[in-house]
Amino acid sequence: MPSYPPIWATGTMQYAGVPQDATDMFNSIKAGIPNIAPRGTRAGDMTGVVYDDNADPACWWTDTRCTSPKLKGLQPDVTSCPEPNSWGFTLDDGPNCSHNAYFDYLESIKMKATLFYIGSNVLDWPLEAQRGLADGHEICSHTWSHPYMTSMTDEQAFAELYFSKKAIKDILGITVRCWRPPYGDVDDRIRWIAQALDMQTVIWTDDTFDYDWVTLGKDAIRKNYQAIFDKQTAGKYDSAGAIVLTHEIDGGTMELSQEMLPQMMKQFTGGVMPVGVCMNNTQPYVETSAYTYPNYDQWMAGTRSISVASPTATGKVGETLVFLTGSAAPTTSAAGSSVSTSPSSSAAQATSMSSGMSRSATSSASANASASSAAAAQAAAQKSHSGVSSDRAVLSVAAVLVGALAGAAALL
Ligand SMILES: [Zn+2]
Repeated sequence: MPSYPPIWATGTMQYAGVPQDATDMFNSIKAGIPNIAPRGTRAGDMTGVVYDDNADPACWWTDTRCTSPKLKGLQPDVTSCPEPNSWGFTLDDGPNCSHNAYFDYLESIKMKATLFYIGSNVLDWPLEAQRGLADGHEICSHTWSHPYMTSMTDEQAFAELYFSKKAIKDILGITVRCWRPPYGDVDDRIRWIAQALDMQTVIWTDDTFDYDWVTLGKDAIRKNYQAIFDKQTAGKYDSAGAIVLTHEIDGGTMELSQEMLPQMMKQFTGGVMPVGVCMNNTQPYVETSAYTYPNYDQWMAGTRSISVASPTATGKVGETLVFLTGSAAPTTSAAGSSVSTSPSSSAAQATSMSSGMSRSATSSASANASASSAAAAQAAAQKSHSGVSSDRAVLSVAAVLVGALAGAAALL
């Protein structure tokens, strides 16, 4: 059997049996990782974190919603579907074996989504993980144990990304090339490590806050969906479509999704589909010969699947990951200058020096709430339909925090 870090614990390379190829790869890239300091805790407690909101030297999404890296050489995040009035359908925090009824429903209406799988869930629920792929959904990574990624050390961040990708490879037979940061918490250091692991960062244009339905009530979530429909009516997606954050995390989010899908499909005349489809990325995995998804025009003409090999865990377990980009770590430099990303680069210095105001004065109460919500989020992600999920609660707290400092009015 392959060796993984303990499930639901922070990713680490410090355990007996850590694969040699993982260690070798980390050692080969670590010197190049941008020197941007970790911030806060894995549960999102930002107490005492000091960051320059205005300069935003690390392109820290949680603080500024930045999605265009400051370091040259990093891919920009995927933030929207390019096709007008399309809805990039994304479901986070799976898989879980109790979600079959919802996936049966998706099958019944021939709907596919991009599924952001948590590595620990893939090992907990391997058959359900395989079902997502076999049903024709697009698969991406959502880390090993769902932490705030910018709180991770370089080694932890590498392990979170590496082992989620490895779990998906070992259980499903595919090597994914996309990932979504839990809570959207990403900066240029984390983007760099993800890119070294051949994964592009996927964010979103709109958030339903469905994970928080227990607290907010289902009607509030319905209104959030309606607000997105209203934006479509108002022409906000006439030039580029949406990518919408929704979850398969528990019964409530799946019921809301099922309830809303008919109107989503009616309203979004550019189609509801996986992100890869709206981007015409027909071969999203390294295993290009075995998996081909429809392009946008094919999807709109009714084609839902071109070629999907059966999930192939047997005989593949423990296989060494293969990267299309080899072990090529990103060659980055600070935007607008020729300084490379060594520990002495200007961007890195700006990050660690930070002249911005401290968050501690305004964030301690929020941060405490955030920490407990994040714990709830993990529990929910592990047990799924237990009721309270809270990816989103944490994000709202982060938004309040950002709003308080930057005067932002509302979240995405
Ligand atoms: Zn999540």
